[in-house]
Amino acid sequence: VLSIRNLRKNFGEKEVLKGVDLDVYRGQIIGYIGPNGAGKSTTVKILLGLEGDYSGEIKIFGRDISNGDISYKKKIGYVPEMADVYDNLTGYEYLTFVGELYGLNHDLVEYKAKGLMDLFGIGEVFHTRIASYSKGMRQKLLIISSLLHNPELLFLDEPINGLDANSVMVFKEILAELAAQGKTIFYSSHIMDVVEKISSRIVLLNDGQIVADGSFAELQKKQGGTLEEIFNQLTG
Ligand code: ATP
Ligand code: MG
Repeated sequence: VLSIRNLRKNFGEKEVLKGVDLDVYRGQIIGYIGPNGAGKSTTVKILLGLEGDYSGEIKIFGRDISNGDISYKKKIGYVPEMADVYDNLTGYEYLTFVGELYGLNHDLVEYKAKGLMDLFGIGEVFHTRIASYSKGMRQKLLIISSLLHNPELLFLDEPINGLDANSVMVFKEILAELAAQGKTIFYSSHIMDVVEKISSRIVLLNDGQIVADGSFAELQKKQGGTLEEIFNQLTG
């Protein structure tokens, strides 16, 4: 689904990605972890075409994205690390707006949007202005908006910031279900216990380089301990 070869990126003098190589296959849930500043968000933004001036080769669905081919984007979902949603709209208006951007059927989007809001326990604010939503409710709205078009490849950058425990559980179930359907999930985060539970494969980025790559069981065999402990050992 995704292949990255020798990806390098500088911000001025600072080398942020130092030759990242990664192949991601259909149905995988990649937990892309690393300490603050490791280069996780930068990787995701490059893959989405939001950050230029890099070197290396990136193929998504077999297409070389550095050739300006953006046709892959309609099959992608994205929850950015920092984002806000339009205060003046209601949840319903925002989500149907996103559905319209993707050219989806209005009634289907409304049905799916309401269903997901109910699942996340915020169905009662469907017709309330986003201005009155809490941070967690906004985050849920962003997650829901990334799922409406049923993306083949979903990029999530710290998606559970502000989510309550029950919603995290709901979200984990949604991700497992998507992966079972053959969707691929690229989950970037530094919240280890969730990554440990949901990821079929964990990729640890430290200072712009991948320092571990494997299932949690594989990493545990080599290093022992929880993912948190493995993380601390390898990034220490
Ligand atoms: P976090 O866990 O804090 O989200 P991260 O792994 O996502 O960290 P990045 O956001 O990719 O890290 O940042 C990697 C490095 O690049 C950091 O040192 C950051 O300060 C720097 N950086 C990111 N974006 C820019 C930018 N637009 N201009 C200059 N430096 C940047
Ligand atoms: Mg980040």
